[in-house]
Amino acid sequence: MTGKTDSYDVIIIGAGPAGSQIAYKLAGMGHSVGVVERKESLKGAVCCTGLVSWECVDEFSIPENVIYRWVNSAKLFLPSGKPIQIWRDVPQVAVLNRSAFNQAWAERAQKVGAEYLFSSDVRGIERGQNKTKIIASQRGEMITLQSRVVVVTTGFGSHLLGELDLGGVGDFVMGAQTEVETKNIDEIEVYFGNEIAPAFFAWLVPTLPGKALVGLLSRYNPPAYLRKLLASLSAEGKLSSADVKLTYGGVPLKPLPHTHDDSLLVVGTAAGQVKPITGGGIYFGLMCADIAVNTLHRALETDNLSASGLAGYERTWRRKLGRELTTGYWARKVYEMLGDRQVDRFFRLLESRGMIDELRQAKELSFDWHAGIIARVMGQKLFARAASSIKKPFNFRGRPVQKKKR
Ligand SMILES: Cc1cc2nc3c(=O)[nH]c(=O)nc-3n(C[C@H](O)[C@H](O)[C@H](O)COP(=O)(O)OP(=O)(O)OC[C@H]3O[C@@H](n4cnc5c(N)ncnc54)[C@H](O)[C@@H]3O)c2cc1C
Repeated sequence: MTGKTDSYDVIIIGAGPAGSQIAYKLAGMGHSVGVVERKESLKGAVCCTGLVSWECVDEFSIPENVIYRWVNSAKLFLPSGKPIQIWRDVPQVAVLNRSAFNQAWAERAQKVGAEYLFSSDVRGIERGQNKTKIIASQRGEMITLQSRVVVVTTGFGSHLLGELDLGGVGDFVMGAQTEVETKNIDEIEVYFGNEIAPAFFAWLVPTLPGKALVGLLSRYNPPAYLRKLLASLSAEGKLSSADVKLTYGGVPLKPLPHTHDDSLLVVGTAAGQVKPITGGGIYFGLMCADIAVNTLHRALETDNLSASGLAGYERTWRRKLGRELTTGYWARKVYEMLGDRQVDRFFRLLESRGMIDELRQAKELSFDWHAGIIARVMGQKLFARAASSIKKPFNFRGRPVQKKKR
């Protein structure tokens, strides 16, 4: 079924982790797969820190040669600058070399027959009865490709989604990151505070010896906040040089209202399958890619690529991740309502009651699954006390409490 052709069973738009995961599995099952990618190659820097849990590495057999290092501790800096150390005895998180990972995932798919078309920017999708046309600009020329079904894995902010009538992601944050040379930094540092990264957080993540990624996600002006952070880390003597070339990206905080239609699926960050607490999208994207593969394989075999034939994908991923995404989003909105002093006070209260230590050891504490730990914190009497110490009023549905008119 494979071979040089402009007609495929499946066209995947975007050669990130989600796209290449689907390409690898479907091509391995014997379907003809084309992957259309606007970049010239997958070698350049990616605006992503590459943190994934050991569960993700294990489940998707991510090879050691694309992992910079393993991490088992992090220092959280409260808005006041006070550090809180969290750690586990065994490494919990891997720092991936994102560019190497993207290349490895694409090569793996190519080896089983998926065709990659680089320098091809998809401009339009025309869905017909039995064939879908994909119109792309390839090195200045317009080309048309055909497929039975199309999978959109374009990551954050693609204009294509606006044309597909699936609704928008609803809420998002923007990010910036750069690579730096460091002095004596051997663990992850996370910085909170409205003067550092409004509504989100910033980080310093060691990669190779003497090197690290410094970045942040924020509601406003990430490059300005990142430059300010780099200046302050340099002044503290943590950096020996700060590469001033920044990369930019965005992260959706809510999923798309619909992620399937006739002859169409949307998967990964394009679909909003991202943890709202941390902005991490690699693991959930790969998970949803596998769910998409199961649905697509069945639909291709039975030749039912209608919206109803593809609905199993949407049902399954929402069953698996829906609660996580909703609870995480709710918790993020609550965090956003807090002032710096309130965040400090909340953490100090947790620490003074030994709760940080308790949570650190709790079985619910996971790099990926946050709903359990959020429920546990909220179940504590202490949470109610800490929440009552927060002056800005909110109710527990995350909506601001209306002030009564006098
Ligand atoms: C600052 C920052 C830090 C992050 N850190 C982490 C982290 O530590 N851990 C984590 O899990 N996640 C992190 N993320 C999120 C993570 O990067 C994404 O969730 C992940 O890359 C999504 O994978 P994907 O395959 O869905 O899309 P992407 O990796 O974004 O791939 C999409 C691909 O589609 C291509 N494309 C887009 N439009 C078109 C088009 N019209 N035609 C052809 N090709 C197109 C793009 O060029 C790209 O190659 C971070 C994000 C940001 C912004």
